[in-house]
Amino acid sequence: MKRIKLSKLISFGLASLIIFSMFQPMTTFAATECSHQVVEKFPGTPPTCGNSGLTEGVKCTACGEILTAQQIIPATGNHVPEKISGVPATCGASGLTEGAKCKNCNKVLVEQQTIPATGNHVHEIISGIPATCGVSGLTEGAKCKNCNKVLVEQQTIPATGEHTIQIVPAVPGDCKNVGLTEGKVCSVCNEVLEAQISTELGNHIYESGKCTICGYKKPSSNKPSSSKPSNSEPVKLNPNDADFDDVPKTGDISTQMVCVFGGLFSFVVLCLTVVYAKRKMVK
Ligand SMILES: [Zn+2]
Ligand SMILES: [Zn+2]
Ligand SMILES: [Zn+2]
Ligand SMILES: [Zn+2]
Ligand SMILES: [Zn+2]
Repeated sequence: MKRIKLSKLISFGLASLIIFSMFQPMTTFAATECSHQVVEKFPGTPPTCGNSGLTEGVKCTACGEILTAQQIIPATGNHVPEKISGVPATCGASGLTEGAKCKNCNKVLVEQQTIPATGNHVHEIISGIPATCGVSGLTEGAKCKNCNKVLVEQQTIPATGEHTIQIVPAVPGDCKNVGLTEGKVCSVCNEVLEAQISTELGNHIYESGKCTICGYKKPSSNKPSSSKPSNSEPVKLNPNDADFDDVPKTGDISTQMVCVFGGLFSFVVLCLTVVYAKRKMVK
């Protein structure tokens, strides 16, 4: 009897322990309310032109209660077009036409089309620069008008270094106009290598006593008989000299005239005196 009682007591105790352990979580859950200390957030998604979005949601991780439910945001419906720039085709690479996409949802609204490569370069001449005596030049080159690819490289032409002498002929002067000496210039760079200098007035060229160029009369015998007066002799004085030469001649004539008239006058006076004296004596 005592043994049976003891085993009954143990099995009852075990059973009550099992039952207690089974009911324990239920009793604690029912007894203390969840304070939602640990929460999980669900980020919202913005709506696009074609798809609706969601607002942000919050759920308690401990009790699983949804604290803030996510709300549906309806789709906006309208795309906002944005230009996609085109790429021009070059001689070697294909290009793309201009396209368009939605600024909000990135949906392609206008598909870009491939432009095939043109294939052929279009030659364009690059002008050459001639080398001068001091500065180097460049040969003529060529590039593609479309893709700017250099097709013919320009080569450097070294500076020639030496001037190409060109004679500037002298300008002869005469008794009226000054002349110029011979000069030298570089025919390539135009640098004056030897400047022209003005010459002095030239000599008169006489023909039968008169200069054939300026008409100046050759001075008479009191000058040296050389047909060419020296260069130092000033030309403008010569006409005065010529006038001076004439003066003594006219002087000679007038003196002779004075002598003749003087003689005649004294003769007439003498005759009149004689006649007057005879009349006086008659009276
Ligand atoms: Zn909770
Ligand atoms: Zn869109
Ligand atoms: Zn090209
Ligand atoms: Zn030169
Ligand atoms: Zn002259």
